[in-house]
Amino acid sequence: MPLDIDKIREDFPILNRTVEGNRLIYLDNAATSQTPRCVVDSICQMYYEHKANVHRGVHTLSQEATDRVEEARTKVKEFINAGSTEEIIFTRGTTEGINLVASSFGDSLCNGDEIIVTVMEHHSNIVPWQLLQRNCRVVLRVVPMNADGSLMLDAYEDLFTDNTRLVALAHVSNVLGTVNPVKEMIAIAHRHGVPVLVDGAQAVAHRRVDVVDLDADFYAFSAHKMYGPVGVGILYGKRRFLEALPPYQGGGEMIGHVSFEKTTFADLPFKFEAGTPDYVGMAAMTAAIDYITSLGLDNIAAHEQELLAAATAGLMEIPGMKIFGNAPGKEGVISFLVDGIHHYDMGMLLDKMGVAVRTGHHCAQPLMTTLGIEGTVRASFAAYNSIDEVNRFVAAVARAAAMFRK
Ligand code: PMP
Repeated sequence: MPLDIDKIREDFPILNRTVEGNRLIYLDNAATSQTPRCVVDSICQMYYEHKANVHRGVHTLSQEATDRVEEARTKVKEFINAGSTEEIIFTRGTTEGINLVASSFGDSLCNGDEIIVTVMEHHSNIVPWQLLQRNCRVVLRVVPMNADGSLMLDAYEDLFTDNTRLVALAHVSNVLGTVNPVKEMIAIAHRHGVPVLVDGAQAVAHRRVDVVDLDADFYAFSAHKMYGPVGVGILYGKRRFLEALPPYQGGGEMIGHVSFEKTTFADLPFKFEAGTPDYVGMAAMTAAIDYITSLGLDNIAAHEQELLAAATAGLMEIPGMKIFGNAPGKEGVISFLVDGIHHYDMGMLLDKMGVAVRTGHHCAQPLMTTLGIEGTVRASFAAYNSIDEVNRFVAAVARAAAMFRK
């Protein structure tokens, strides 16, 4: 069903503001999406009516806050079709989810163990594995890609050795928009007896994710990229892995019993949720997921594909245009450069025309090195972007390019 974009836009007050005298065209959704009124209302309601620390108090407010957080956990579980709420760990975001696995899973690694990543990973799915080098020599093996930005699956299979301990890969590239065949790649890893962590930061707001169907062992994502609050994320993990892993951080809430001699740990999921979490943001996940569900992920995906097609066709008309990443079925992310124009200059000029895009390496420097560039301009779409905005964005890029050609 086509989305009613005008109606959706009413849910996002920020879209009415102007930048440099022009109506804002927000195309930096891969970095963070804007937040609908219902999510902000949920945050306000928690502060105004239910604010109390969770999982601790017997008093009414604490129980209300706890109920809201646990309701959100159930919502997340259903959203990604996890088997149980014990497999849903609240984190600060994708980055913390990956660091959690790197830290806890990394405990069991030893010299010469190998982790397979892909050439298009975000730094948050590279650096945590490199930090393991502090304890032992862990080797990163990198899946290469084809010219269109799709991964080389044959090369992927060849990377497995007796020392491979984990595969860590992005579901969707934040630079190229490539949707990696994670289900197939997980099946291959499992044939080699290797578990897989999926970085779902760019996937969950744009396509249906079913962690059971994918058979993912870990799946990490961030609320702020899915119309949700900032500062909250999710790590899904299969129960048997989470049960076997040691805690990530120590503190309140994650314990069973503490003495100076010995401490036992809480059951899942609390074993991995030390300290006072962002329970306001956690509770607001319910509103964010309800919002996405009310629009329908399939409708969002179809709309974003329309925007992608229109933007790609429009940009390609501009002389000197190069788009990075055109794998079949790619998501609504376009990275581009115009011959002779630095990405930063293009970004600045677009901002002057009210268009918010990302410029730079997008936290994927190894990918930039592979592409032989320093950075790109990136436009990325969300449910509230309109075809009119895409047309105005393309016109703005054409105008900026023309200014440089003068
Ligand atoms: N992975 C990918 C693919 C991303 O795009 C991002 C955010 N740009 C992250 C990880 C990190 O997400 P966060 O900063 O929310 O932890």
